Amino acid sequence: MNLMEKEDLVKVKAEELETASPQEIIAWAVETFPNITFACSFGAEDVVLVDMLRKISTTADIFYLDTDFHFKETYETRDKLAEHYNIDFVRVSPKLTPEEQAKEHGDQLWLSDPNACCNIRKVEPLTRVLSNYEAWITGIRRDQAPTRANAKKVEYDYKFGLIKFNPIADWTTEDVWNYIRENEIIYNPLHDQNFPSIGCEYCTRAVMPGEDPRAGRWANSEKTECGLHK
Ligand code: SF4
Repeated sequence: MNLMEKEDLVKVKAEELETASPQEIIAWAVETFPNITFACSFGAEDVVLVDMLRKISTTADIFYLDTDFHFKETYETRDKLAEHYNIDFVRVSPKLTPEEQAKEHGDQLWLSDPNACCNIRKVEPLTRVLSNYEAWITGIRRDQAPTRANAKKVEYDYKFGLIKFNPIADWTTEDVWNYIRENEIIYNPLHDQNFPSIGCEYCTRAVMPGEDPRAGRWANSEKTECGLHK
């Protein structure tokens, strides 16, 4: 399928699948694109999608970006999910170890230049892994951030050059937690400690009552996204 054919397909399917359930979207996606992958951060949205995807396909790849800087609770959540669903998560790591990064770019790059740090530890590894696939699934939701408000359930991802599925784009936080509770899904315990959005340990803090759910991400800078979903 060339780019124009993909763009046409995306246009038709985005309209057609806008009112479909996440499971219907995932089922169509994995059937149409056997070479598909799911990007899992082990956050609330993504554990929902792990559950849905594994009930539909036992073979679709699931990867995570291991920045080396995740909370221990995030790694524990990964291990519990791996055991429960019998998943061999694909670990995608940066080219530089934390020590090499400190040597080349200075200590605490996440403070001096968080965009450079995210580029090294997230964007480059993501670009590398996605080059192996023709489609990817993500857990982004429209109400998470203004930058995500226009996300379609099916879209062409020009940044990374493949088709992107956002099956729960129109879900609310409540929808996510209802699914987790009803299906007794394993989730990151930090969510119970006022961490609605969880990234690297150095760049995530708990939020205060009344704060935006993503206020705990890069709280000391203007940065709001890693650069993965722009
Ligand atoms: S979230 Fe922070 S620590 Fe993680 S890659 Fe980005 S800047 Fe670095």
